[in-house]
Amino acid sequence: MAAAGRRVLISGASVAGPVLAYWLNRFGYQPTVVERTEELRFGSGGHAVDLFGPALQIIEWMGALPQVHDAGTHTEIISFIREGHRPIDVSAELGSEGVSARHVEIMRGELAKIIYEAGRDDVEYVFGDSISWLEEAEDGVGVAFEHGSRRTFDLLVGADGLHSITRRLAFGEEYQFLHFLGGYLAVFTVPNYLDLHQRMLGYGDVGRTAAIYPVHGTDEARVLLLWRTPTLHDYDRRDLAAERSLIRNLYSDMGWEVPRLLAELENADDLYVDSISTIVMDTWTRGRVTLVGDAGYSPGPAVGGGTSLALVGAYVLACELAATSGDHGRGLEAYEQALRPAVQQSRRIGPAVMKMLIPNSRLQLWALAQAMWLLPRVPRPIRRALTSYGGGPAAMLDAVELRNPSSL
Ligand SMILES: Cc1cc2nc3c(=O)[nH]c(=O)nc-3n(C[C@H](O)[C@H](O)[C@H](O)COP(=O)(O)OP(=O)(O)OC[C@H]3O[C@@H](n4cnc5c(N)ncnc54)[C@H](O)[C@@H]3O)c2cc1C
Repeated sequence: MAAAGRRVLISGASVAGPVLAYWLNRFGYQPTVVERTEELRFGSGGHAVDLFGPALQIIEWMGALPQVHDAGTHTEIISFIREGHRPIDVSAELGSEGVSARHVEIMRGELAKIIYEAGRDDVEYVFGDSISWLEEAEDGVGVAFEHGSRRTFDLLVGADGLHSITRRLAFGEEYQFLHFLGGYLAVFTVPNYLDLHQRMLGYGDVGRTAAIYPVHGTDEARVLLLWRTPTLHDYDRRDLAAERSLIRNLYSDMGWEVPRLLAELENADDLYVDSISTIVMDTWTRGRVTLVGDAGYSPGPAVGGGTSLALVGAYVLACELAATSGDHGRGLEAYEQALRPAVQQSRRIGPAVMKMLIPNSRLQLWALAQAMWLLPRVPRPIRRALTSYGGGPAAMLDAVELRNPSSL
């Protein structure tokens, strides 16, 4: 059956969802995107994410590369701080040299806005709603929305992140697929009271770190806290007071700027707390339902690589569906086969990056400081080894083979 006119429902409009919608539309499909939030958390919203080689290639094919470069965070210096030691300044550019020659850091909200705008005129977007039920029939997948309507689509794609509703409805409860990596993250907004400009400050301690970076074009800064814990915390994820209290307990004895950051936390209304976990599934497809991005194969939030993998996954899915001329069974199988090597490599990223981001011992903290100090002083091959994070991110990107869109 030809692709033309085939209706695809995509749940989630952050990175993977709008990229998939853009390319499906280019290949003759009729995509609809449903997003739970009332409006996209556009502009400076969210946290900083990374786009590496293949992801930037796809953005280039979408004609959006100049916008992405303009909207980048423009972080130039990372200052690493330890109690009782002088800060170590490193050029941010050097920090990703061992991952990819092409890299742009951008706020997730800025990226989502650019991708959405690239395709919005030709794609149906529904904001402030969510699927709540699904049923697969021979000729399509029936979906109910929280706001009451029901519709039938030829395919349903879950691009709804780490806590995907599509995954839960089609595959079962999250705990079966969520693999805890032994850490947590918290992110929230504070005024840029340190007057930071193109500089990120990171304070390292054993088992916990705190970082702050300015949000380009605003008078705000974002705080990122990362800590280790052997088991999942037991608290209500919808209870802001419980989340604040968890963080206060963990960080109350930390020095540097942390007392001020904890005071600012009381006013922050955008606190986001989550475990650093990865999603591991044997297959992302069940009948006419498939998953893309964090929903199907998150390498873990804040460890890097997730955004590029989500973007690449969305593009590969669109290409494989187009290449099999709308035979969704063959298309979805080809998507899994094409992406699985990259996903397998991506599982190495979390544990390796966590060793760097959240040192586990005094020795690891010391070794990190030495590596930061050495970085600008050693020859390029050593620099690349020091910034390869165990080789996982580069291996993931190398495992990606992109079809040229003009060949489809
Ligand atoms: C604090 C933090 C720091 C991070 N740092 C980095 C980094 O440095 N580098 C990097 O590459 N990646 C980083 N990541 C990971 C990165 O954000 C994700 O890998 C990437 O955003 C995945 O994109 P996605 O489109 O698959 O999912 P998401 O970006 O999670 O988007 C899911 C979308 O689905 C929507 N949604 C959820 N539920 C529903 C529903 N029921 N119905 C409809 N819509 C729904 C959500 O509102 C959201 O818009 C970080 C993540 C976090 C949380």
